[in-house]
This record gives sequence, structure tokens and C-alpha cells, in this order.
Amino acid sequence: MTALQLSVVVPCFNEAEAIETFHAALLAALEPLGEALEVCYVDDGSTDGTRLLLGGLAALDTRVRYTAFSRNFGKEAAMLAGLRMSKGAAVVLMDADLQHPPELIPRMLELHRHGYDQVIPRRDRTGDGMLRTALSHTYYALVRRCMDVEVVDGSGDFRLLSRRAVDSVLSLPESNRFSKGIFSWIGFDTVSFRYRNRERAAGQSKWGSRRLLNYGIDGLLSFNNRPLRLAIYTGFWVFVSALVYALWTIVNVALNGAETPGYATLLTAVVALSGIQLVTLGVIGEYVGRIYHEAKHRPPYVVRETDESCPVRPGAPKPVLPGELSELAAGRSHTMRQFASFVLIGFVNTAVYLAVYVLLNQWIPYLLAHAAGFTVSVIGSFLLNSYITVGTAPTWRGLARYPLSSVVNLLASGALLHYAVSVLDMDKNVAALVAGVLVTPVSFLLARWAITSGRRTGAAAGRPDDTPSEPPMIKSDSR
Ligand code: UDP
Ligand code: MG
Repeated sequence: MTALQLSVVVPCFNEAEAIETFHAALLAALEPLGEALEVCYVDDGSTDGTRLLLGGLAALDTRVRYTAFSRNFGKEAAMLAGLRMSKGAAVVLMDADLQHPPELIPRMLELHRHGYDQVIPRRDRTGDGMLRTALSHTYYALVRRCMDVEVVDGSGDFRLLSRRAVDSVLSLPESNRFSKGIFSWIGFDTVSFRYRNRERAAGQSKWGSRRLLNYGIDGLLSFNNRPLRLAIYTGFWVFVSALVYALWTIVNVALNGAETPGYATLLTAVVALSGIQLVTLGVIGEYVGRIYHEAKHRPPYVVRETDESCPVRPGAPKPVLPGELSELAAGRSHTMRQFASFVLIGFVNTAVYLAVYVLLNQWIPYLLAHAAGFTVSVIGSFLLNSYITVGTAPTWRGLARYPLSSVVNLLASGALLHYAVSVLDMDKNVAALVAGVLVTPVSFLLARWAITSGRRTGAAAGRPDDTPSEPPMIKSDSR
């Protein structure tokens, strides 16, 4: 057995904003314990400079190790790589966004010393939206009924595993991994305790609704064949009802003679049966797909570099040290991409404005139609620019600041137009175009400010609960 007492495994995907704060908080929680430890970061193909930051942390501290993937392979693959890297007698798996509080690790270690192989802190649902909470509860109720292993609501991937538990997890050969199920499947003595849910320290969740839905389906299908059973039962009962219906029709014809056939009944039966057949085919297809995937024996991820393959040698390019990333992460190309997206969304919104204006013009006075079209296009522009251009969840305060960008645009383009026409003697139409183009970068910067102002950034993050961020319009959560 190794002398290393503790390995902390942290999958990271685009966590440049959070990683420094996380690392500092982790060391602050662990150093007083005086245990021999290592931190195994896995960069899951980040595009924001996370890998460079990890290289910097590894260069500064020999306890930090990292593996970087060649592209984004998903959190499951990143956790697998981290577990494979880890050498400690106990391994803690945790997220990089401080939603899993490092302060809980001493308590987890304590419980591990009492003989538990798995120690699972379970989050409550503080701060979750109602809809999300209801959906999660329903999902877990469904999972409990359908799955051959027990998955508990609130227990995520944050957990401590003993060395033998880690070895058991690693001994499972499947490449289509659903860790929540695997951790439950391996068994061993398990204990869990509750903690208060936290918001992300910085950056955003990578789990949109579609990703969550796919994850949910993966979970349901990975650990049982009950959906197939359900298909068999449904098929059976549909067949029995068809038989009963046929018998009833025969008796009816014998007693009352033949009547005009009921097309509606026929059509309903055909449509219902096709639906059931399609769903059943889909379910079978899912399983066949999984078999196909497993049969290819592809590795779950491809490694681009590790701390060992990329050690910092004398004369090698200087690693990015903590604090130096901001220029890299928010590079010029990033801003240019955002600007292009802003301009495209501008075209879309003009089309939206025109559509609303032309439509409403049929029923209400044209000035009201103009106001309605304008309002819809400003809100649409705000939402699209939040989600697509800046890539963040919209906030109510952001929406309140946003019209400022339109007002400045109107005033500045008006002033430019006036200058071009009256002083430079330019054609009125050309002048309007030139003024519009010149003012667009200013509108872009203002719109971006309206959307992002008041949010925590890596530098300003501090401790996660100290700096309140603006409340989002739609609350997100971790599963
Ligand atoms: N993560 C990852 N690969 C992915 C998505 C996420 O390694 O493709 C990491 C992410 O960096 C974070 C953890 O998994 O450390 C949890 O992700 P996130 O916070 O986005 O999920 P949530 O807390 O919203 O469920
Ligand atoms: Mg998170």
C-alpha cells in the first residue's frame, strides 16, 4: 500500500474562472490535516485555458497532477481517468466549481477511518427551481422503481471511496459508464450525510436540459432491461385487447348482422399500434446501440498530455501561473466571435421586429405595433445574446440594464448621422448605414456589460457564499 493517504480527483471542463479559487479552498481545507495528499485534475478538453492553468498549478506544487484530454469526452470519462491516476488510500471525487465544499473532506475522512468504504455527502435542494426539483423527484422515483441498483436523490458524484472501492470501480470494463449506478453496484459499507446545496463559485453549469435528459435516459438504460420487459408486456396486453375486440365484433355480427365498418376505430387502432411499435423499436435500438458501442472496444477517452508527459523543463515555455490567465481566456478571438454572434442576432431581431410589426398592424394602430415589435425584439435580443453570445443564464437585472444599449445606439447613431449629413455633406442613406456600422461595436460592448455586469468572475469570486450573484431568471441545479 502506498504512503499517500488521500487523492482528490477533480474533473474540469472550462473551469478557468473557478479553478484557482477552488484549488486555494481545497488546500486551505486539507493542509491542516497534515495528510500526504495529491490532487488529480482531469481537463476534459476545455477550450478556455483550464489546461494551461493546471500546468501552472502542477509546476508550482508537486502534489498537483493532471491529465488533459484531446477533446471533451464528458464527465464520466474524466472521472474514470482521475480514478485511474489516483494513488491514495482514500480517493475523494469532487467538482471544480466549489458546489462540493472542500470543508466536508475532513469529516468524510473521519467516517472513512471508522471503516466506511464509501462516504457520500448528499446535497439538499436549497436554491433549486420548483420545476427542476419536481422533475428530479419524479426521475428518482422512476429510477427507484426501474433500476436494479439504488440511486439516492441528492447523492451525486461527490464522494470518498476507499482504495478497494476504487479498484472495484476500475475493474468494471464497460465503456458506457453511468457512475451513479456503478458506485451503487459495487456495494461495500456506505454512509451518507446531508449538506446545504451551494451555487457555483464561477462559470456556468455544463448541463443543459438536453444533456440532463440524455444523462437520465443513460442512467435508466445502463442498469436494467426493464424497458424491454415493459415493451413485451405492453405488446401482450394490446394483443389480448385486440383479441377481445375481435371476439366482440364476431358475436355482434352473428347477432345483429354486419354494419358499416368503423373507420375511426380502425384508424385509432392502427395509429396506437404503430406508436407502440415505434417506441419499442426505439428502446431495442438503444440497447443495440449500446452493444455496438461496447463491441467496438474504443477507449473512453484520448489523452493529449499529462503532468509527466509535459513536465516543466528549464528553457521550456513558461507555464501559465495562476492569475495570468485572464488575457489568455478572454482573448481577442473570443471577443471577435462574440461580436460576430451579436451582429447576426441583430439581423435576426430586425426580422423579428418586422414580423411582429407587420402582423400586429392588421389589428392595432401602427405606432402600438411598432412599440410591441420593438419590445419583443429587445427582449429576444437580450435572451439570444445572453444564451448564445455571452453563453450565460439571463438575469432580471441584466434585462433591466439591457435597453440602455438600444438607447445609446439610438443617440450615438443619431449624432453621427447628423454630423455626416450636415458637416460632411454625405448622402442621407449612406450616412445612416455608416453610422449604424460605426455604432455597432459600442452597442455590443454595452450589451455585453448589461448581461455580464454583477456576475462573479474568477478574480472576484472569493469564497463561494461571500459574494452574492444576481438571481437568475431560470434557476439551474446540479443533479
Ligand atoms: N465536467 C466535465 N466534463 C463535462 C462537463 C462537466 O469534466 O463534459 C465537470 C465540470 O468541470 C465540473 C463537474 O464536471 O467540475 C460538474 O459539472 P457542472 O458543475 O457543470 O455540473 P452541475 O454541478 O451543474 O451538475
Ligand atoms: Mg456544478
